[in-house]
Amino acid sequence: MSCSSSSSASEDEDEGFDSYRKGGYHAVRVGDSFSGGRYIAQRKLGWGEFSTVWLAYDTRSSEYVALKIQKSAPQFAQAALHEIEVLSAIANGDSSNSKYVVRLIDHFKHAGPNGQHLCMVLEFLGDSLLRLVKYNRYKGLEMNKVREICKCVLTGLDYLHRGLGIIHTDLKLENILLLSTINATKDPIRSGMTPILERPEGNPNGGVTMNIIEKKLKQRARRAAARISGRRASMGGVGGTPKSNRSLDGIDLRCKVVDFGNACWADKQFAEEIQTRQYRSPEVILQSGYSFSADMWSFACIAFELATGEMMFTPKGGQGFNEDEDHLAMMMELLGKIPRKIAIGGARSKDYFDRHGDLKRIRRLKYGSLDKLLVDKFRFSEIDAHEFTEFLGPLLDFEPEKRPTAEQCLQHPWLNVKNLKKTEMKSESGVEKVNVGMSKLQIKVGR
Ligand code: ADP
Ligand code: MG
Repeated sequence: MSCSSSSSASEDEDEGFDSYRKGGYHAVRVGDSFSGGRYIAQRKLGWGEFSTVWLAYDTRSSEYVALKIQKSAPQFAQAALHEIEVLSAIANGDSSNSKYVVRLIDHFKHAGPNGQHLCMVLEFLGDSLLRLVKYNRYKGLEMNKVREICKCVLTGLDYLHRGLGIIHTDLKLENILLLSTINATKDPIRSGMTPILERPEGNPNGGVTMNIIEKKLKQRARRAAARISGRRASMGGVGGTPKSNRSLDGIDLRCKVVDFGNACWADKQFAEEIQTRQYRSPEVILQSGYSFSADMWSFACIAFELATGEMMFTPKGGQGFNEDEDHLAMMMELLGKIPRKIAIGGARSKDYFDRHGDLKRIRRLKYGSLDKLLVDKFRFSEIDAHEFTEFLGPLLDFEPEKRPTAEQCLQHPWLNVKNLKKTEMKSESGVEKVNVGMSKLQIKVGR
């Protein structure tokens, strides 16, 4: 187990049929039943490299659940057993289910043509934060909304770290799910969906294979249509009009941390290379050992992405240097030079740094700063940029031990300031009423 990547049903790519073979995914059809008839598959919610995840109806509790069906080969079964162990510890320690971490309801084995699959039954959750950012057309979210999301994630992390000694190791937008869907009609509860209790008739081929073929055809048609309308747009016709802004007001932004396939106990680690590239911390790149603070680095990357709509680091590698070196260079350009003792202190340090602590192959760095980037590129107000940087900066300390813990972050003034929107400014123009509760309080207009 190491760096993972996952996606979901409505993203452009699907899981492909190659992996529907012995040792791979289990092909599911709408109406299929699991665990002696207790769970009935309704529709696919998403997929990862190890599993497909289906919306299912639990006939015992009369509730909708997410059914995660693991690939069947031994290494995937092993990984699922580990995930079940972690999820069980999480559920056992949080009897009130109030910690913003996904809840395991049940688990069982399911035998199919491709082998025996471990299945996890999880509480049903909504769209990922990646979908939310996409829905918002990759524009930064309002600061109050970023704060709201950060509070949930930090509460979840504090529980995992301090309460259980667990490091998630793969925090990213895809692995944080809203409690509900962005679009209410997609939420089985809010939309009042009637559960499917048996396999619909008249679809002999049915199932996942047909779904994928149909989807592929639709995708091709969509691409062809986009090419045509693109051509039209470049000829001065319609189709090139910029999309209008979308409002996120009314969307429940409470969210939970999911995907514990790569999680570990701080005192029982198995992978040296953890985290998805863009969210990877310097100590992991340099192999200097990691702990809970590696999650805090990824958390900072997530907060930045929510606030700006763009990833903080997207290293690529180039001529004469690789992705790791590009990544380290980008970190230094934004956050300052890595202190020598840190730079040369990891098992991989010699590959990248000389004995002075300078990168061997990328010599000229263009130093900037986080608050300047927020103002110049992302058009933050000076004050927003300054306050956000005060919150984020310490989380991006190159020295992992110096990064604040999730518990400390929850106390940070930035999380408790409230930016007033123009409309709120008007309705509260009596001003004394403004209840913000922080000392260096500023009344300001949201971005
Ligand atoms: P993997 O370990 O294979 O990467 P994940 O746990 O990340 O699997 O799940 C894959 C995808 O399935 C997620 O990105 C998400 O879209 C969807 N998903 C996972 N868990 C849930 C859940 N509890 N509720 C709704 N959708 C879920
Ligand atoms: Mg995943």
